[in-house]
Amino acid sequence: MINRRTLLKRLAATPIVGALFGSAAATSAAGSLLKAPTRDYFSELGLRTFINASGTLTALSGSLMPDEVMEAMDYARHHYVRLDDIQDKVGARIAERLGCEAATVTSGCFSAMTLGMAGVMCGMDEEKVAQLPDPTGLKHEVLMPKPEHYVGYVHALTNAGAKIIEVETVEEMEASVNDLTAMIFVLNAYNGTDISHEDVVRIGKAHDIPTMNDCAADVPPVDVLWKYTDMGYDLVTFSGGKGMRGPQSAGLLLGRADLIAAARLHAPPRGETIGRGMKVNKEEVLGMLVALERYLDMDHEAQWQRWEDQIAYIESVVKEVDSVTTEIHVPEIANHVPNVRISWDQEVIPITGNEVEEKLQAGHPSIELGGGENNVGVSVWMMRPGDERAVAWRIREVLEEAIA
Ligand SMILES: *Cc1c(COP(=O)(O)O)cnc(C)c1O
Repeated sequence: MINRRTLLKRLAATPIVGALFGSAAATSAAGSLLKAPTRDYFSELGLRTFINASGTLTALSGSLMPDEVMEAMDYARHHYVRLDDIQDKVGARIAERLGCEAATVTSGCFSAMTLGMAGVMCGMDEEKVAQLPDPTGLKHEVLMPKPEHYVGYVHALTNAGAKIIEVETVEEMEASVNDLTAMIFVLNAYNGTDISHEDVVRIGKAHDIPTMNDCAADVPPVDVLWKYTDMGYDLVTFSGGKGMRGPQSAGLLLGRADLIAAARLHAPPRGETIGRGMKVNKEEVLGMLVALERYLDMDHEAQWQRWEDQIAYIESVVKEVDSVTTEIHVPEIANHVPNVRISWDQEVIPITGNEVEEKLQAGHPSIELGGGENNVGVSVWMMRPGDERAVAWRIREVLEEAIA
């Protein structure tokens, strides 16, 4: 899965920020560097907090930032820097660590897509920058392998004024290239066609059309962070707050230096732009860098083993209930982590998965997971160590109560 040699190459650089804040690898997810808060803000607000057995869903606030990330953000809040300076330095550091030409921190993967698209459409022409989202006179058609199902993320591109042209075959993609073609875009996880990445890169290069791959939720595995820029994609985008557990409002735009420079013309601090609302300040920029470095330096195999142990524990507890079966599922691309589906015979346990979901939300501790017809899906990805116990026993309790 992970190519050891390239991995070692990527992981060899000494992280500047790691040296400042102590080795990321040495600090466990559970270890707390920060002072305990003196106020219980969420309970003051009457807010329900919960165990996340669902994954990095935006609606569930995504992921929990590790202490190293918060330390970096806390450090940054004490100092002024020029926003362009920190983007320059952090972008260069990220590019160096990932072995790509250039990088910039955006306010999420979605804005990485918008800014990248805008950069492709306008280049370094400030008048064109001010013109968006009006695409008059600009190349603005985007060829996209048809997604398996509709996903709203392409709004990130249409926000810039682009028009999406869905194609289903290599021949159709080549035939659709014309004077208005601005970019070829791939939703890494949802490509429902036989058009391969190699095809996309080849067609892009042959016609001098930039290519972009949206890999928002596609780490792990860690090597996706360099796989597609290495392959020849001109731009690759990631969410910062999913697998990397950086700030939720951060993301990465990686790729060609000229296109990253052009994308940044649409980003704050510049004001007359479509990207002015996509602000990411020094705290998130630094937090994103530290999250990325921590992620690169992590022992990924040990992490995978912890997930498998958590799943094995949950399976051992719930399988004690009559008719319950479990099945482990690892999506190939996006959310590539072990999940377990817990199913039961409704003749024996007369309750639906949605009812189990509601009971778990309403219980103590509250738990969020996805319920289906006669099953629930559990993701251990975003659980804290020990959460698997509460999840396993609450599911068992709810199922046993349904029998009684
Ligand atoms: C989550 C996601 C996005 C949006 O990412 P943000 O970091 O939340 O802006 C875009 N594309 C895909 C495929 C995603 O999964």
